[in-house]
Amino acid sequence: LSERLETAFKNLKGEARITDLNIANTVKDIRRALIDADVNYKIAKEFTDKIKEKAMGEKVLNAISPGQLMVKIVQDELTELMGGQEAEFNISGNPAVILIAGLQGSGKTTFTGKLANYLKTKKGKSPLVVAADIYRPAAIDQLTVLAGQIGVDIYAERENKDAVAIALNAIKQAKATNKNVVIIDTAGRLAVDEAMMTEVANIKAAVNPAEILFVVDSMTGQDAVNTAKAFNDRLDFSGVVLTKLDGDTRGGAALTIQYTVNKPVKFVSSGEKMETLDVFYPARMAQRILGMGDIASLVEKAQEQYDEEQARKLEKKIRKNQFDFQDFLDQLQQIKKMGNIKDLMGMIPGVGKAIKDIDISDDAFKGIEAIINSMTPFERANPDSINPSRRQRIAKGAGKEMSEVNAFMKQFDQMRQMMKMMNKMPMGRMQGLMGR
Ligand code: GDP
Ligand code: MG
Repeated sequence: LSERLETAFKNLKGEARITDLNIANTVKDIRRALIDADVNYKIAKEFTDKIKEKAMGEKVLNAISPGQLMVKIVQDELTELMGGQEAEFNISGNPAVILIAGLQGSGKTTFTGKLANYLKTKKGKSPLVVAADIYRPAAIDQLTVLAGQIGVDIYAERENKDAVAIALNAIKQAKATNKNVVIIDTAGRLAVDEAMMTEVANIKAAVNPAEILFVVDSMTGQDAVNTAKAFNDRLDFSGVVLTKLDGDTRGGAALTIQYTVNKPVKFVSSGEKMETLDVFYPARMAQRILGMGDIASLVEKAQEQYDEEQARKLEKKIRKNQFDFQDFLDQLQQIKKMGNIKDLMGMIPGVGKAIKDIDISDDAFKGIEAIINSMTPFERANPDSINPSRRQRIAKGAGKEMSEVNAFMKQFDQMRQMMKMMNKMPMGRMQGLMGR
C-alpha cells in the first residue's frame, strides 16, 4: 500500500503544478489506498473527490513538489475529518458513569478492563466495573478475572436477569464504597437486534452516563458503517473505541465511522494485555491509514521557512556562475532553520529506516560555518580571491588546520564546477539529470 502511494507521488514529482491531467492517477491511487485500509468504498470516493477539488486550487511553492503538496492535503483532510485534535473524555459526576455498548466479540469486556486500568493508573481514579451481561454467565467470569488482574473491584449479580436493576445497584454500591467511576459492560449480539438495543437504551435512560462508548472491531471494515449507524441512531453515543488495532490493521474503520456518524474516536486498543490502550490521535491515524512517513510535516516546515524570493535570486546566481561563500552559508542556515537535519531526512518515506544508525549531526556543518565566518565579505563574494596567505589567516580565525580549509575550498570548487557544467547543458538533458 505504502509502496503504491510512493509510486503515485513519484509520478507527480517534477511536474510544475497540479493539473487535471497529472492528478487523475494520484487521486485514483489514494482512493485505492483508502479502500485497502478498509475505508468504505463510497466514503473513499467522496473523500478523494473533495481532495481533488482542493488540490486544484492550491498554489505550489517552489520548495516542494506537487506530489508532496498532495500528500499534505490528503493527510490534513484525513486528520480534520477524524476530529483534528484528540477528543475529550468526560469523567465528571460522582460517580461518573461510563456505558459500554457494541456487538458481541467486538471487545467490550476486554476494553472495560483496559479502561478501568487506564483510569486507575493514569488518572488516579477508583473505578468499579460492572458485569451487566445477563445472558452469558461466562461473561461475568471473564470480567472477574480481568478485574483481579488490575486490582479493581467488580460488581455482578448472577441471579438477577434485569440489566437496568444491576446497573442501578452497582452505582449504589460505588457510592457506598467511594468509587468515583462506574464502567458498565453490557451484553452484545452477533448482529444488531431490537432486544439488545432496547436493553442498552433502558440502561442509558436509568443511569445518565457521562460517556457512552461504542466499541467496534477495527477489522469489521465495510460493515462498520451499518453497525455504527444503528447504535448511534438508538443511543446517540458520545465516542467510539476501536479495538484489535493490532499488527498491520490499517484502521480505515476510524474514518468510515467518523464520516458516517460524526462522533469522535476516543480510544484505540490493541492486543489482549490490560496496558495496551491508547488515546486516539487523529493525525497519527491519518498517517497509519495512508501508511507513509510524516512527509506532511516536512512539507509544512519547508513552507514555513522557505523564502521563494530568495530561491529565485539564488537560482539566478547559479545560472550566472556567481554562487559564492555567502550563498553557501545562507543555504546552510536555511537548512538549519528547518530543524534537526536527521529528523528532517527521516520524515521522507523510506529514508527514515536507512539513516537510523548513521550519525548526521548538525555539528557536521559547524566547521564549515566557522571557516566561512572567518572570511571577509569581499572574500565570501569572490571565492577566487582566496590565495594561500588569505587561507592561512582564515584557518587561524576559524581555529582550523590549514588542511581543513584547503579541503573545504576544494569541495566548494568542485561544487561550482558542477554548477557550471549543468548551466552549459541543454535544458532537457539537465532536467533529466536532476530528475534522477
Ligand atoms: P465482547 O464480546 O464485546 O465483550 O468482546 P471481548 O472483550 O470478550 O473480546 C472478544 C475477543 O477478542 C476476546 O478473545 C479478546 O481477548 C479479544 N480482544 C479484545 N480486544 C482485543 C484487542 O484489542 N486485540 C486483540 N488482539 N484481541 C482483542
Ligand atoms: Mg463481553
